[in-house]
Amino acid sequence: MDTPANSKLQIRQIPVLNDNYVYLIHDPQTGATGVVDPAVVDPVVAQLDTEGWRLSHILNTHHHGDHVGGNLELKRKTGCTIVGPRADAARIPGIDVAVGEGDSYRFGGFEAKVFDVPGHTRGHIAYWFPDAAALFCGDTLFALGCGRLFEGTPAQMWASLSKLAALPDDTRVYCAHEYTAANARFALTVEPGNAALKARAEAIAKRRAQGLPTVPSTLAEERATNPFLRPDSPDLRRTLHLEGADAVAVFAETRARKDRF
Ligand code: ZN
Ligand code: FE
Repeated sequence: MDTPANSKLQIRQIPVLNDNYVYLIHDPQTGATGVVDPAVVDPVVAQLDTEGWRLSHILNTHHHGDHVGGNLELKRKTGCTIVGPRADAARIPGIDVAVGEGDSYRFGGFEAKVFDVPGHTRGHIAYWFPDAAALFCGDTLFALGCGRLFEGTPAQMWASLSKLAALPDDTRVYCAHEYTAANARFALTVEPGNAALKARAEAIAKRRAQGLPTVPSTLAEERATNPFLRPDSPDLRRTLHLEGADAVAVFAETRARKDRF
């Protein structure tokens, strides 16, 4: 029942800065090696050396410095191709290939499907590798949370999150920050009756106490416990006093409360 190792996308998670995750992805069949949102250079180069991989691609989700900070130096060192959001190409340093909603980008033997997911920034995109069940969603969807709305409206962000929430249950959510423990504390205040959330919050506290990452999670877990994907939850609606409201209004109020939390 084991899939041969050479048919799998290999993924390495590199914690950098305070709470960022940078990801290396590698297709052993073709040697294609990408880095998703290189905030910095040195830890990426160190991990590439450890693995014996040669960088061929940078995949950016959005323009923030903690996602593109390593772009130009990595490109200078390796000649890699930089892929990023078409809607924000002018703000992605060194961009070579601009992609957007509905595009498929071929990475080695794998296909990355691209979604436009505006809200955190106006040009944010996400990369979904269906054959690897992997979603790289930057600062749009977090474990038990979602990104702040710096350049978008609640309606935009809700539409973006809805696209991601429609992916298969076993999709692993490779988000760009380890915010999960704080997100769990907030989630419990708005959906106090969610038993799956309580269990997950305990598991998260244990992992963090041991210094272990809580990322990636699965989309099934997020749909069951992430309040930003659960505007239909009666418990959440009761807490917010929004029993009769539409999903966007419930999402907007949840996000506003998190901003003040
Ligand atoms: Zn960001
Ligand atoms: Fe970020």
